[in-house]
Amino acid sequence: MLKLNCFYLKVLVLKMEFEDHYRQPQRPKFDCLLFDLDDTLYPYSSGIAAACTKNIQDYMVEKLDIEESKILELSNLLYKNYGTTMAGLRAVGYQFDYDHYHSFVHGRLPYEKIKPDPVLRSILLSLPIRKLIFTNGDKVHAIKALKRLGLEDCFEGIICFETLNQPFSPTENSKETQNIFDIVGHFARPETGVELPKTPVLCKPSIEAMEYALKIANINPQRTIFFEDSTRNILAGKQTGLHTVLVGKSHRSQGADYALESLHNIREALPELWAEAEQRRAVQYHSGKVALETSVSA
Ligand SMILES: [Mg+2]
Repeated sequence: MLKLNCFYLKVLVLKMEFEDHYRQPQRPKFDCLLFDLDDTLYPYSSGIAAACTKNIQDYMVEKLDIEESKILELSNLLYKNYGTTMAGLRAVGYQFDYDHYHSFVHGRLPYEKIKPDPVLRSILLSLPIRKLIFTNGDKVHAIKALKRLGLEDCFEGIICFETLNQPFSPTENSKETQNIFDIVGHFARPETGVELPKTPVLCKPSIEAMEYALKIANINPQRTIFFEDSTRNILAGKQTGLHTVLVGKSHRSQGADYALESLHNIREALPELWAEAEQRRAVQYHSGKVALETSVSA
């Protein structure tokens, strides 16, 4: 008789576990949205990118004494090979204080060209999911741009230049010579066996920088959507396991899961995010109910 009761008890427990499993709403697929800042949260047409390029070139002439006629080719090569011109300048041997560079290049940007975006604000606030910024820019620039957009309170945090890099220390780098690697000559007359120098700066699209950023912010790439306007950063994002949305283009590039002309179209392109928001509310309701029942029975 006792044996029979035990059997019925076991069947009952299994039945309850089965029902409980299927009563639980499914776990949402995504738990984080990761956004690039410049030319992603506001459009390229704002003119900020062009002003930034001009400031970088002025810095190279005025502060690093680079010949004006070489600036265009040099800055293009550095940007192409190192992710940012700044990372390239450091790689080829220029020494300068990072804060000084940022205050020159970003500090004088025409921020008034970035307009408040209440539509994007309402879209972001309607998604009850973790949201973070991941920019190669410095913290002061990121905060200024977010304030101009009216989005400063829409994100949990900002992964920026200072998050991934230590401040520049001239004493630590005193052993480095001021000999500048001739990158223009390197590509004009490629010599076998000569490698491009490495940069000490961590930034997108380096996989090392991407992985470090994800680790610092405790982001699971499999459950995160990465919004970005740069096709090479999208490719790097895909290589680190992120789901990717190319912003500002109507066609997907390599490694892009989606392409959006503007973040204003998120709802049309990714309705599942809002469906998941409903699921999330259901999960919260479900777990809240269990907690209440537990406390009553106790
Ligand atoms: Mg960008």
